[in-house]
Amino acid sequence: MTNALLRRRILVCDDETGVIEAYRRILSDLVEGASAQGEVALDALAADLFGEEVAPIINRAGIDDIVYCRQGDEAVAVFGEAACKGEPFAAVFLDVRMPPGFDGAEAARRMRALDPTINIVMVTGYSDHRPAEIAEIIGAQDRLFYLVKPFDADEVRQMATTLVHRWTSDMHTAAELAGRLRELEKVNRALQVSEASAHRAARRDPLTGLLNRKGLQEAFEVAMSEASKGDGEIFFAYIDLDRFKMVNDVHGHAVGDRFICQVGDRIVCATGQDGFVARLGGDEFAVVITKGEELDSLLNRLLRIGDVPFAEAGSELPVSLSIGYCRCDVVSDSLSDAMRRADLALYSAKAAGRGSAGGYDKSLDDEFLRSQVIARDLKTAIGINSLQLHYQPLMSADGCRVTGLEALLRWTHPERGDVSPAVFIPIAEQNNLMIELGDWVLRQAMRDICSWPDVVTSVNLSAVQFSQPRFAERVIDLARAAGISPAIIEFEITETALCANIVDFARQVEKLCEAGFRLALDDFGSGYAGIGYLSQLRFNKLKIDRSFVSNLRIKPNAERMIRSIVGLGEAMGLTVTAEGVEEAFQHELLRAAGCDQMQGFLFHRPCSREAVMQLLDRQRIADRAA
Ligand code: C2E
Ligand code: CA
Ligand code: CA
Repeated sequence: MTNALLRRRILVCDDETGVIEAYRRILSDLVEGASAQGEVALDALAADLFGEEVAPIINRAGIDDIVYCRQGDEAVAVFGEAACKGEPFAAVFLDVRMPPGFDGAEAARRMRALDPTINIVMVTGYSDHRPAEIAEIIGAQDRLFYLVKPFDADEVRQMATTLVHRWTSDMHTAAELAGRLRELEKVNRALQVSEASAHRAARRDPLTGLLNRKGLQEAFEVAMSEASKGDGEIFFAYIDLDRFKMVNDVHGHAVGDRFICQVGDRIVCATGQDGFVARLGGDEFAVVITKGEELDSLLNRLLRIGDVPFAEAGSELPVSLSIGYCRCDVVSDSLSDAMRRADLALYSAKAAGRGSAGGYDKSLDDEFLRSQVIARDLKTAIGINSLQLHYQPLMSADGCRVTGLEALLRWTHPERGDVSPAVFIPIAEQNNLMIELGDWVLRQAMRDICSWPDVVTSVNLSAVQFSQPRFAERVIDLARAAGISPAIIEFEITETALCANIVDFARQVEKLCEAGFRLALDDFGSGYAGIGYLSQLRFNKLKIDRSFVSNLRIKPNAERMIRSIVGLGEAMGLTVTAEGVEEAFQHELLRAAGCDQMQGFLFHRPCSREAVMQLLDRQRIADRAA
């Protein structure tokens, strides 16, 4: 009800015609249009009765309507009807005795039941009920007033006016309160909505809209608790995109983002109802598989999302991913337990060849522990300078002359004996030891090279080394300090290094080339570097991956592959070196295919600096004799 529609109404009920007439006379001048003088007097009375604060909101227009009844039941009916219509009374004057119907106290009680805030004036004769008894029947004494018959006209007017004003003021307050309440509810609803969206945002990855780590944590806990109630099985899988860093580096971050979004969509599609998906950052996704029985088919679907390349602006980028997964113990595993095991499984899946899925088993834990021990011991070995560099000769195509050397790390572990660099280099890379180790190799190699300044020596570099700021500058400084020409050092980088996410990798490589160092692409054909990379960086040499050589006579197309690599090298003006030559027939085939340089046990194994010096001395003597 708005204040504008408020009608100030009074209900009077008395069984005596004479009394009703008296009310009419007395109250008639209060009805709409009362004299200004009367109002002022009544305002003063109202202020006396209810305090000054009500005076300003007193409506001066007086009373709009007075309804007269003769019996209690009639009055209650009129009262109820008015309340229903939304035109409630401001005050009721009730005669206490109204035979033959029910008395005023009963009528008042019923009205109170309909409207607990109604102001009621009980009009009593001297012999009627005592106020205390009436109050007990009606309740709410602060809205209960008494008038004793025969009443005084002014007293009735005063009572009617002040009660109407009080009621008006109460209604204003109530309307205002209701308005404020509505406002508050609105604000509350808005808050709830924004709280819900903040809650959602905190659990979602902004790029893909998939769950983030926090969202995954919560969803994982729910899934685990559900599964633990029945005989449900949960698997946790890590998905890592192969070569995503290359997409980002070569095509830019905007393309990288779209690539990630599309892959995310495909993972969600492949997962369907068998689980849920989260993105944990970069190119790393997680799938919680809630239908254990679907594991194999789900893994197959996931691996196959790479069947269709990602198409962007006319070019197509291959999509390939590796998956590591583990079964979760629904009672005792936490998300970090699952993540740790899936991570180990992922690592070994990648090592086994990209584009595959691998499950966790206990041996991976043992392997991890072993690698931690190796990392610790390697750190000590670097510290006490117990590593060595050996050199393997690179031979002319006929296998007769040493035309180069490759520096290779050697480590004899105090208990384990010789540990292969193929084992400890990856461990060094993962355990923040590669920079220190790589530095040691560079310094040692430069020191050794001073003994054979006329032979080009290859030094292997790990991608991790390029992540140091100003790496190229430091290498240049080291060569200058050692007093050797950059032209006799060749850096070997593998294809995997090309794919690593190193922002200014190409710039650093370019700096090394400009300084005069030579550059070789190692293990060519084993990884992903395409011809694109070959033309981007200024390579001098291609080293054919050892697997091609060892596959000669085993795999029918190995020879053809070698011939095409040689063709490619020739076309680009690069030296082509064959690695891992162990048998004479391999040498013959490789020579016939056009390889420029040979490296392998057939000619020489890697040997110590002293042994290399003797070998080179013998060669010089032979040269002089010829
Ligand atoms: P890589 O760069 O491909 O080095 C050639 C590997 O082939 C060496 O293994 C060498 O001993 C081996 N090899 C040479 N001829 C034959 C052969 O006829 N048959 C067989 N089966 N193997 C042959 P090694 O010394 O065990 O090194 C393994 C890998 O460790 C290297 O492969 C290289 O990737 C890495 N590595 C070694 N030293 C360093 C280093 O100083 N820095 C870096 N970053 N990596 C290194
Ligand atoms: Ca190499
Ligand atoms: Ca190699």
